[in-house]
Amino acid sequence: MSTKDYDPVEVAVLSEDALTGYVAQALEAFAAAGSLETLKQARLEHAGDKSPLALANREIGALPPAAKADAGKRVGKARGQVSKALAARQKELEAERDARVLVEESVDVTLPADRRPAGARHPISTISERIGDIFVSMGWEIAEGPEVEADWFNFDALNFGPDHPARQMQDTFFVEPVDSGLVLRTHTSPVQARTMLDRRPPIYVVVPGRVYRTDELDATHTPVFTQVEGLAVDKGLTMAHLKGTLDHFVKSLLGREVTTRLRPNFFPFTEPSAELDLRCFVCDGRKDDCRTCKGTGWIEWLGCGMVNPNVLRAAGIDPDVYTGFAFGAGIERALMFRNGVEDMHDMVEGDVRFSLHYGMEA
Ligand SMILES: [Zn+2]
Repeated sequence: MSTKDYDPVEVAVLSEDALTGYVAQALEAFAAAGSLETLKQARLEHAGDKSPLALANREIGALPPAAKADAGKRVGKARGQVSKALAARQKELEAERDARVLVEESVDVTLPADRRPAGARHPISTISERIGDIFVSMGWEIAEGPEVEADWFNFDALNFGPDHPARQMQDTFFVEPVDSGLVLRTHTSPVQARTMLDRRPPIYVVVPGRVYRTDELDATHTPVFTQVEGLAVDKGLTMAHLKGTLDHFVKSLLGREVTTRLRPNFFPFTEPSAELDLRCFVCDGRKDDCRTCKGTGWIEWLGCGMVNPNVLRAAGIDPDVYTGFAFGAGIERALMFRNGVEDMHDMVEGDVRFSLHYGMEA
């Protein structure tokens, strides 16, 4: 058959029936596609490069010029119907997917959340702050000093003689090299000397902080512990001011009436010096086998006294004009008798269950 005689009606794939059939098959396949994935398959099959309509379109090129326009029009119309149906189905399936995603991925904000525990502040921190607050409410200031301290501040300025036993290796951590002149402070008292050099009286400061001694960790000792130091320097201060201040402090911290007594003692940096004891608030002195006071009726807690004139002089303060009082208390010990903590290990081991027991008190 020559090209000249070519009758488009004889080309089966271009017949009206064939084209209508292709369109119908495509529309049926698109309508049957239940997902974007199956629609993609249907598109390749019915609208892709190898689909019957694409093949029919290629046949047009072989037609005589006179027949091309008519065939082109019919194939174009059929392909137009298919693309339109495809686009419409695509849109429907996308809308369905979006709606499904919204449901499947929605978050119920009312469900209980799996929260990480909030943790708890260490009771040593909270009790230190509480002590600071008690003194701040009396108009005192909080002072701080370095934990790696010059031995002059740690000992000499506080009237510790060169042969004082506290300087010996068994008590003090020295910082290498041996002649560095630095120690890990063995008490918060060097901040007394620093404060007096730093400012003029009247001075009212309280100093909570970590201190270090070469003790082994056991139930009642730890090589790192916490003290709170107080220093007042003013005109006319006496032991009566010291006792009144400490009584208020004890009452505020323990939240109840506690009888106190001052018992003579010796410290190089105070003269006279005393130990403040608390009446045992477990047995009130009435039980010989009391574990808290060991049957003595009293609980030893803090050292105190009137600032030694030598200490005032070392800081350039005239002891004929000013007097002062000072005290230093162990905070771990306060926690032991205030909250019934029996073993120092609990305080230093960092187990959050111990801290949580104290809640989030501030
Ligand atoms: Zn007791």
